[in-house]
Amino acid sequence: PQGLANRLSVIVPSITLEVSGRANELRSRGVDVVNFGVGEPDFEPPAFVLDAAKSAIDAGKTSKYTAVTGIAALKQAICAASERRRGYLPTPDQVTVSVGAKHALFNLALALYEPGDEVIIPGPYWVSYPEQVRMFGAEPVLVPTTEEDGWRLAPADLQRALTPRTKAVILCTPSNPTGAAYGEDELRALLDVLRAHDCYIVVDEIYAELVYEGFRNVSAATIAPDLRSRLIIIDGVSKSYAMTGWRIGWSIAPRPIAKACDVVQGQSTTNPSAVAQHAAVAALTGPQAEVEAMRAVFQSRRDTMISALNAIPGVRCRKPEGAFYAFPDCSGLYGLPWKGKPITNDEELAFFLLDKAHVAAVPGGAFGAPGYLRFSYATSEERIRQGISAMHAAVEAAS
Ligand code: PLP
Repeated sequence: PQGLANRLSVIVPSITLEVSGRANELRSRGVDVVNFGVGEPDFEPPAFVLDAAKSAIDAGKTSKYTAVTGIAALKQAICAASERRRGYLPTPDQVTVSVGAKHALFNLALALYEPGDEVIIPGPYWVSYPEQVRMFGAEPVLVPTTEEDGWRLAPADLQRALTPRTKAVILCTPSNPTGAAYGEDELRALLDVLRAHDCYIVVDEIYAELVYEGFRNVSAATIAPDLRSRLIIIDGVSKSYAMTGWRIGWSIAPRPIAKACDVVQGQSTTNPSAVAQHAAVAALTGPQAEVEAMRAVFQSRRDTMISALNAIPGVRCRKPEGAFYAFPDCSGLYGLPWKGKPITNDEELAFFLLDKAHVAAVPGGAFGAPGYLRFSYATSEERIRQGISAMHAAVEAAS
């Protein structure tokens, strides 16, 4: 019999793609669209990273399959970076290097989740978490958080969501889409709840290097060494080294889980690209000054973005601790006229902004937070000023 597998029927198509489709259409007509929709740094990776990749090619190190879960030098570099950042030195056999952090999460989902399982995901969430859980027939348990609580999961809400079926809890700190990060005490409080409940704890730390104004990011691995036997850390070079296109991410997991990811990857992608692995070794072992330089630029862009957004009547934006997203409450703009009718939701608002201000942002409903919009500030200050003042003008013209 023909037809697609049933599991695909539960996956929702991405509204983000619809917005970027419309943005591309405008662009093809010559309109200068300021794109706050994409989640990737506009920087180039440090030059020494690119040089290391070229040297690896010239030295003939990149033409063959590598070990499925990554070359030894990269796994060692990942372990050393973990010790440097988290004070947690895993062994190389706990590391699975994958084709980006998204792939690391996918391997994990395939290895762990099955029908009957529940996976707790605080909302607003990165869209792939619930979709990957659903893809394998498990149930995402979405626990909302509020802007008033700094978009942080309350321990009591976590406690209430846990059941005997809870297979895992996925935390993302700093978060996409809110930029919120857990301080040490807040993370401790969640881990205290999880200590009493036997489930996996998945912490996505892909934005951990990008925190601002002295905010101290802590890892669950650092403050709860006793939970490392069921803790899985997700990380990668995409965001902190501006290397999204190189597709290198990884999981650091207890050995049986790492072994399972090895089996999954061995029957799917085999190894991540050899040349990208050599580039990632250089990124992790080379001088870290450019990471700090990019972080400082992001901080200044954040400040520009947040104050420009807050100056728009009807928009309110919390200052995020990290990542490169502003997540303002834009429900105050509902009621503005668009196409002859008042705007009633964040999707209409996103299309209004595209049409009237030539600004692309992602509707919060996509992340489980209707009424909000996500603006990435991984673009120049000049573009941020230009885009947000166009938005300001469009709102005033329509008011
Ligand atoms: N985790 C979060 C929270 C992200 O925002 C992203 C990228 O947008 C990823 C993981 C995936 O990163 P990668 O490019 O390494 O697949």
